[in-house]
Amino acid sequence: MNRVIPLVDQRRLDQAVRVQASGAQARGVDTSGQPPRDARGRPLRDLRISVTDRCNFRCGYCMPRDVFDGNYRFLPQPELLSFEEITRLAGLFAQAGVQKIRLTGGEPLLRKHVEKLIAMLAGLRGIGGQPLDLTLTTNGILLARKAQALREAGLARVTVSLDALDEALFRRMSDADFSPDDVLRGIDAAAQAGLPVKVNMVVRRGVNDHQILPMARRFRGSGHVLRFIEYMDVGNTNGWNMAEVVPGAEVLARLAAQWPLRALTPQYPGEVAERWAYEDGQGEIGLITSVTQAFCGDCNRARLSPEGRLFLCLFASRGHDLRALLRSGADDARIRGALSAIWGAREDAYSESRGSQPDRRDAPRIEMSYIGG
Ligand code: SAM
Ligand code: SF4
Ligand code: SF4
Repeated sequence: MNRVIPLVDQRRLDQAVRVQASGAQARGVDTSGQPPRDARGRPLRDLRISVTDRCNFRCGYCMPRDVFDGNYRFLPQPELLSFEEITRLAGLFAQAGVQKIRLTGGEPLLRKHVEKLIAMLAGLRGIGGQPLDLTLTTNGILLARKAQALREAGLARVTVSLDALDEALFRRMSDADFSPDDVLRGIDAAAQAGLPVKVNMVVRRGVNDHQILPMARRFRGSGHVLRFIEYMDVGNTNGWNMAEVVPGAEVLARLAAQWPLRALTPQYPGEVAERWAYEDGQGEIGLITSVTQAFCGDCNRARLSPEGRLFLCLFASRGHDLRALLRSGADDARIRGALSAIWGAREDAYSESRGSQPDRRDAPRIEMSYIGG
């Protein structure tokens, strides 16, 4: 099958740049040196950079093998942003208020020499000269091999996805020839290299919800934070069904019946996970409830695709072609202006309207494996 093409909204990009040129402060455009705010007043803080659309897994909820098969057209190498291009854009995003960068994919550790990119990004500074919070989400298979190099390059933290400890179920869910032990070895290697670790588990009712307690038991007291993610209707290929979503509240009730928990206050506005601590001091867990309790109101995340399209929401169908702008020879001021203008015009809040506008679910939109979580 052909690539599920995200449409590039060049028209909106051009329009956004024109808006910027005409100085539309009301829409959050950066004419004052202040970080831009979007049309709903949300600042830009978090940039997710997808460095590849390829993966060594075929998780059914993300890259079902019948779609992402031998005939699927992944992005050819020359279409990807180079490390220099990514770093230049990331630096301009940092000047626009971004404080945190997460590398994702596809599987980001499949991108050759990704540690070089991390070293380049580690040299960037945000507004006020602060170093950026640099992290990465991975399925963990290549982590045992790469953790030390990633740490030495300047990675601050890592998130590792793991949906099941049960060997057969793990193989079925990832649809690949690896074992959960490979991922657990990656987690150990990351911890040994000094990287704080979070573990992401996507919960699907009737598939792996019986792994909630075993996973919690495995990571309690380990120092790693386990986060339960509601199964989302990202993209158009995973056949999402609300019946398979296990609400975060239910996950919490199942855990609390075993181990009493208390709510923790958010560390910063826009924090994605709701955090809970075990009363017995054995660490904390997180709930990412994007389906049952939308958190669009604080969403401060922008997403850059492997070939340089800027998306303002995980559920967007259209991206702004920053690569064209970069390769047109635009100077920093022009690109910075475009970023501010694009962000200033942002109104996205898909999860808030998921229930009230079910027909929107069928609209074409980007795939998770292309843009990252
Ligand atoms: N390959 C890496 C990994 O799996 O960690 C990084 C990319 S993956 C797209 C990023 C995160 O998105 C993972 O934690 C994955 O479990 C999550 N994810 C993918 N599809 C999802 C879906 N339909 N609903 C909820 N989370 C999903
Ligand atoms: Fe690959 Fe991550 Fe998607 Fe699984 S969730 S298929 S590991 S990109
Ligand atoms: Fe942000 Fe879009 Fe998710 Fe809402 S639906 S939280 S706007 S990415």
